[in-house]
Formats: sequence, structure tokens, C-alpha cells
Amino acid sequence: MMTESRYCIYTSPLIVPITAKPIVDGAVVVDNHCIVEVGERDRLLAKWPRAKTVELSGVLIPPLINCHMHLELAAFDDMPRPGEGEPMTVWIATLIERRTGAEDAATTAARVEKARLEQHHSGVALIGDISNSSVGVSAGGESLPEIYRFYEILAPTTVRTDEALGLLESISTRIPACAHAPYSTAAELIVALKNRARKNGHVFSLHVAESIAEIQFLQSGLGPFRDFLDQRRSWDGTILGGGRFDGSIFYLDSLGVLDDRTLCVHCVHVSESEITLLAKRRAKVCLCPGSNDFLRVGHAPLKKMLDAGLLPAIGTDSPASNEGEDLWREIGILRHLHPDVPASTLLAMATYGGAAALGRTQDYGSLERGKKPLMLEVDVEVDNSATALEVLECLVCGRRPQNIRWRTPLPRR
Ligand SMILES: [Zn+2]
Repeated sequence: MMTESRYCIYTSPLIVPITAKPIVDGAVVVDNHCIVEVGERDRLLAKWPRAKTVELSGVLIPPLINCHMHLELAAFDDMPRPGEGEPMTVWIATLIERRTGAEDAATTAARVEKARLEQHHSGVALIGDISNSSVGVSAGGESLPEIYRFYEILAPTTVRTDEALGLLESISTRIPACAHAPYSTAAELIVALKNRARKNGHVFSLHVAESIAEIQFLQSGLGPFRDFLDQRRSWDGTILGGGRFDGSIFYLDSLGVLDDRTLCVHCVHVSESEITLLAKRRAKVCLCPGSNDFLRVGHAPLKKMLDAGLLPAIGTDSPASNEGEDLWREIGILRHLHPDVPASTLLAMATYGGAAALGRTQDYGSLERGKKPLMLEVDVEVDNSATALEVLECLVCGRRPQNIRWRTPLPRR
């Protein structure tokens, strides 16, 4: 085995591969391109005697995936939280007003870079990022975190839909475009965006069933979102294709846009039948519990989603609708809301769930042969006699581990 020296073995008291049971006294063998093997320490040390060995003291887990962010909103971290009972449209109107001419492109770019770096420090390898302004291709390459950037489009009327369709023609097919939400984007445009995504192999993302007002709008064409569109002269009666629907998932399914490359962000107000439909279509779901708390829109029925066979991803959403952008905190909110969901499932959501939602399980989401050689070594505040289960519980408690060290032979930031 002359080439064995290009291999490196990381040993750890506990490895959490996500797609397999935690391994006590485990090891991960990597080369510069991928993970080669994961297993018991002693067996792998015997099998790879010439490999460079790095003895680690922390727990090894795969990097996190922050599946839904708005990096360009980094400047709006001082948005007021809506009052009790106040519709989400008040928050939206304030954000639109503040965004108008807020800062120049260079300042925004610097903020985006800072926010991205902060994600790296927290252990995030891949971000699903929504942008309304920068029509840029997905960023990242060799540096981390990678960014899967969606160019988000909305158009509630026929006139604006025609404009948006014209704009789409001019955008490189390499750039994933997505819709904003059922209450802001006309049915015709949602279908066109999904068809474009299908043709180009992109994930298609949109905000779905975030507030009860959205459901009211779909059912009756009335409520806070109708008032909002009226006030902005953005209502011509065509947005829902003239139909009325019992829920956002039923609506999207009627448009034929739900499949395994459709990412439904939020899904707070979805019925059991809709959850069954999401699972049947193999659609992806991303939960943003911190943002849902901030905007007072409710909590997604995670347990029912899991029971239906879905593994939702997790996102921090933007600092305009959250108290921070720390995925560890989001995991902790879910732990608090769902004490009966196993810690291993919450960790799987923050890793494998995100990778699956962004179509990147070949690279990310678990410690398995063939994936990118990227790992996080985290120090967990438990004593030496702690069981694997206790370590996992500590990881989902909501506090970011004090020390997170990237372990990878790849170039780093
Ligand atoms: Zn969002």
C-alpha cells in the first residue's frame, strides 16, 4: 500500500455519523477528496497502519447545513418584533420601507461576507440563501460555507408577472430562481419558475404556510394579505389563478409544483392531509423555529412531519425576523418545543435534512464513505462517563459548543 500516506485517520472518543449509530472510540479515514471509511478506532488503525493519525479529544460530527437564510438582510437585525395579534404584513411593510435605498452594494456585500464567515465559525458548511438583489451564481467553491443562492422573484399581478417572465429570460440558466410565497407570487409565475428549475436541475424554494393569514388568503382571497396587496395596488384578482384552496400545500399541489426538488420553507400551518401529501410528493421542508417565534406565527407540527416520514431541514431565516443566525439556537428551540423528538433526529435535521433539501447528500449531511472530508470536532460539556445519548442531548440543548474545530484536509478560510 505505497499510497497509504495520503490518508489521514482522525480518532475520537465519539463519532456521530448521523446515518449510522454513534461510534464510541471511533475513527474516520479521509484523503484529500473524500471520506474513505468510518468505524471503530482499533480496527481502522490496524487496517491503515501507514496513515497519518490525528488523535482528537472532541466529538466528531458532520458540518451543519443552514438551509434557509437571507444573507443580504444582515443590516436589518434591529427590526421590531410584531406585537401580539399584529399581522405579519406590518413587519413586511416595515422591512420593505427600510430596505428602500438602505445602503450601497459594497456595504451589503461586506455584511454578507461577515455573516457568511460567522456561519463558518458556527460549523456551517452549506447555506441555502435567498436573494432579491444579487443575481449571482452560487458561491463558495473551495472556501466554506458554500452558498446555494436562490434568486427570489415575486409578482402578484398579471402585468408584473409578464415583467418577471421577461426578466427570467435574461438570467443565466446556471442561477437558481425561486418564488417568494403564495400570497406574493402569481400562480402562473410559480409554475414558470418551477418549470425553469426542473429544466435546469435546480432546487425550487418558496416560503409556504408561514402564517394563518396566508391560509385565510388562500381560502377566501381576503384578510391581511389581501389588504396589503390592495394598499400597494398589487391586486388584480389573478394571483391564485382565480381559485380558492384549503391550504398552501393543496394549492401548490394543484399547480403541479411539488416534487423532491421543491423546498417548502416554514410549513407552520399545514394540516395532516397536507403533511401526507408533502411526504407522498417527497417534497422537502425547512423549519425556521426562531423566525416563527419572532414573528409570532406559531410552530410547525414537527412530530407529525416525522411520523409521515419527512426529515425537515432547519434554517435561521434572516436577522430581520430572528434574534440571531445561530443554527445551534434553532436546534435548541426545537428541542424545547418537542421534548419527545430524539436528539439524534434533531441533529439529523440540521445536517442530513439540510443536505437533502439542497440536493447535496452526495457531499454533505453525514460522515460516510464518499462524502467530502469535512468534519466538526466539538467539545461537549459532559463528564467522561457520559453516554452517547447524553452527549447528543448536550449537542441539541441550544447552546453553541464552546469550541468548534473544523477537521478537514481541504483548504480553509
Ligand atoms: Zn425567509
